[in-house]
Amino acid sequence: MKQGLLIVVSGASGTGKGTVCNALMESLPELAYSISATTRSPRKGEQDGVNYYFLAREEFEKMIEEGGFLEWAEVYGNYYGTPLKKIQERLAEGQDILLEIDTQGALKVMEKCPEGVFIFLLPPSLEELERRIRGRGTETEESIARRLGAAKEEIGVGRKYNYVVVNDRVEKAVEQIQAILVAEHCRVEQNTKIFEVLEK
Ligand code: ADP
Ligand code: 5GP
Repeated sequence: MKQGLLIVVSGASGTGKGTVCNALMESLPELAYSISATTRSPRKGEQDGVNYYFLAREEFEKMIEEGGFLEWAEVYGNYYGTPLKKIQERLAEGQDILLEIDTQGALKVMEKCPEGVFIFLLPPSLEELERRIRGRGTETEESIARRLGAAKEEIGVGRKYNYVVVNDRVEKAVEQIQAILVAEHCRVEQNTKIFEVLEK
């Protein structure tokens, strides 16, 4: 059986990762979403086990010690991590899995899984990024300033990824990611089995 693709989408906070990934998941029901664990409090409307696994710091630290994460990072004072077990299971079943994580986490995944597909989402401009963070209405002034300051530094990390998608319109960003996934499935490395069968 073909291994699934490990797809990583990241980019600065407020770029629209959550929005684009939700729309992508709706358009590709067979795609699995990696639910991260975090120590931050749930935002209005967020559900445990759906958006995140909301853990206490001690629980998160225990999971780190037990080697339960593919990667983890401290982002804006809270822990965030990608649980390893589900990812291994999904990939072995030949299912693609989508990780929506920050740039620190993505760099760690690049080291561990260089065969992954790394997609960097960019905002159309820094002004629009600020508008989006403010418009979301979930952050304090201090948190907005922190996220904007970090964003400028984070954007350069995008050069290390395989693909870059500008999130101007959500539908267009989703179409571009779909096209990336189609192309990735057509890579020769992804199709060694069919060569083996046909060359027998
Ligand atoms: P992230 O997950 O990267 O932190 P979100 O998905 O929460 O970002 O998006 C931040 C804000 O920007 C949200 O209010 C969202 O509705 C808005 N947004 C996302 N993508 C777009 C877009 N293409 N055009 C306009 N607004 C957008
Ligand atoms: P938020 O608190 O806005 O949901 O997320 C803050 C940041 O943490 C975002 O950049 C988001 O992509 C990132 N994040 C979410 N889950 C994970 C994860 O499992 N690992 C890492 N490294 N970052 C994550």
